[in-house]
Amino acid sequence: MLALTGAGMSAESGIAPFRGSGGIWSRFDPMEYATTEALARDPAKVWQMLHALGLEIAGAAPNAGHRALARLAERIRVDIATQNVDGLHQRAGSRDVIELHGGGTTLLCMACGGRRPSAEVAVDPERLPPRCACGGVLRPDVVLFGEMLPDGVFERAAAAARAADTVLVVGTSAEVAPASLLPGIARQGGALVIEVNPEETWITGGISHIHVPMAAGEALPSMVGT
Ligand code: NAD
Ligand code: ZN
Repeated sequence: MLALTGAGMSAESGIAPFRGSGGIWSRFDPMEYATTEALARDPAKVWQMLHALGLEIAGAAPNAGHRALARLAERIRVDIATQNVDGLHQRAGSRDVIELHGGGTTLLCMACGGRRPSAEVAVDPERLPPRCACGGVLRPDVVLFGEMLPDGVFERAAAAARAADTVLVVGTSAEVAPASLLPGIARQGGALVIEVNPEETWITGGISHIHVPMAAGEALPSMVGT
């Protein structure tokens, strides 16, 4: 089985998705702050958003939905392909998590290409962006709008989607390509596509066979059991 997860998976952990009110995205329009253009032009601006997201992630813990997927993997093979950069699946105990949009555990120098673990870099909100010893701007290894996914990552997720007999699509609006292509690839490969999302999305009905109109933290524990 493949679980394809998006920001809604972590909503009940207190990390707001892009859409909907509240959360950091009502302060930072992702189309303005989370782009390669903004990073090149004004890295301090992008870092305001990254710093706010980092604080939100640091204060969050896995929810009952993350834990249910980890529990299910004790019985059957569960691959997870997540669009989230919060590491909450791993913290809930899931292994083999494909991070489609990176994970932010390392910072990369845009000048010399050197890498540092994020935990070792003190980010001072008064002095953004953080810089490398060489003076270059550091950036996290997350995928911004306008960027390619890390090498081979989409291919791995697409292979898992083709091989899966069941795909759970949890908490994603399926609007951000190329992750949004995965439910269709799975369906073409013959998988049963079950969508867990309180709202309908463009894949509801056409691509997903079953729509469970519930929050991830309620639906997944009752689907998986204890
Ligand atoms: P999105 O914001 O476009 O859509 C979120 C979806 O989750 C919506 O369809 C919404 O109806 C649904 N949802 C809301 N609460 C839910 C709940 N409790 N249970 C289940 N579903 C719920 O998010 P997306 O599709 O992941 O795409 C946006 C991009 O934003 C992704 O690339 C992702 O990397 C990034 N992002 C990541 C995080 C994170 O790491 N936690 C947070 C915000 C955005
Ligand atoms: Zn450097």
